[in-house]
Amino acid sequence: MKNDFYIYQAQTTMFASGFEVERAEGSYIYGTDGKAYLDFVAGVSANTLGHSHPKVVNAIKEQADKYLHVMVYGEYAQEKPVALCKLLAEATPDPLEITYLVNSGAEAIDGSLKLAKRYTGREEIVSFKDSYHGNTHGALSVSGNETHKREFRPLLPMVTFIEFNNENEFDKITEKTACVIMETIQGAAGFLVPNDDYLKKLKKRCEEVGALLILDEIQPGFGRTGKLFSFEHYGIVPDILVMGKGMGGGVPVGAFMSSKEIMNSLSHSPKLGHITTFGGNPLIAASSYATLKEVLDSGLMDVVKEKEDLFRELLVHPKIKNINGKGLMLAVNLGTPEYTIEVAKKCMERGLIVFWQLYKNEYMRISPPLTISHEEIQKGCQIILDILNEN
Ligand code: PLP
Repeated sequence: MKNDFYIYQAQTTMFASGFEVERAEGSYIYGTDGKAYLDFVAGVSANTLGHSHPKVVNAIKEQADKYLHVMVYGEYAQEKPVALCKLLAEATPDPLEITYLVNSGAEAIDGSLKLAKRYTGREEIVSFKDSYHGNTHGALSVSGNETHKREFRPLLPMVTFIEFNNENEFDKITEKTACVIMETIQGAAGFLVPNDDYLKKLKKRCEEVGALLILDEIQPGFGRTGKLFSFEHYGIVPDILVMGKGMGGGVPVGAFMSSKEIMNSLSHSPKLGHITTFGGNPLIAASSYATLKEVLDSGLMDVVKEKEDLFRELLVHPKIKNINGKGLMLAVNLGTPEYTIEVAKKCMERGLIVFWQLYKNEYMRISPPLTISHEEIQKGCQIILDILNEN
């Protein structure tokens, strides 16, 4: 399988691990080598409830027994997508009340940018240095890392990048700005959290000039920081909320939410302002609904802080410079990219999956399923500490 993977499946780097997966359950992935691997990455924040959660798998099976795809997004009223959008409206503060379901985070970002331009009638976008919003042309255009963009120009024009947590740059948000797009917690940059009242001030600036605030919650989304979405920690509500990854419980999905007034502008002048075949697919919606219901009903979010504290308590070592992040999205600074990658490889050999952050490779990613147990946290952290003690 590994050989065929390298030969036939397009590669994203020259050094993919090619780890051969047999099955996955709870906090573990089982390799074809017969070994169990404790998963501290969760498909890069995608497996909110761990692997193959029975409620998620059953929801998918029940829907598969009824029907699969019947029509493109937005034409037919189907039980699961409607229930998902309704529950999202109930679970989020006003004015977030209506949801557009799409296929991926990047598509949701593109949709949100189109929505902001269409609603405001403006052309300029403000984004953040070191941000990551996905890899379609639109999402890449608002991502703030030159290395990943340089070879793919021309990208969207009229995008200005400001520094995260720096209020002095607010004068770049003007009456020409359609929207400011921001990851509430910057992921690729090493899980940077906003300073206490930064988001309040940013929202105020947007209101002053009539720009919409789009928050990309594709990673924190569905409970990862102890709230359903991380903006709830900061006392503001975005005009457009973007989600993906963890909202699917392990299936491909994305969505953007806003008020009815804003969202309605995608349905006229022109009609069909965003079109997608598989957005709102019932199989995906069934999985996402089951995930959302479980996150809301299970009390899992209430113990996220406790689990974060346990990680922070255990991961104390002279080789750990600092730990960024919030809840179960933590980035552990091991000093250099080379050392972090070496540690990640050794962890894998000993049955623990960790990874590094996309732009800041010196940061080791810890984003386990929310369902991870205290014992599993202890076991994984001990593996990391043993490796740090060795060299
Ligand atoms: N935005 C953020 C913050 C992300 O972390 C990601 C994916 O890693 C995306 C957008 C893009 O999502 P997708 O890979 O589903 O297109």
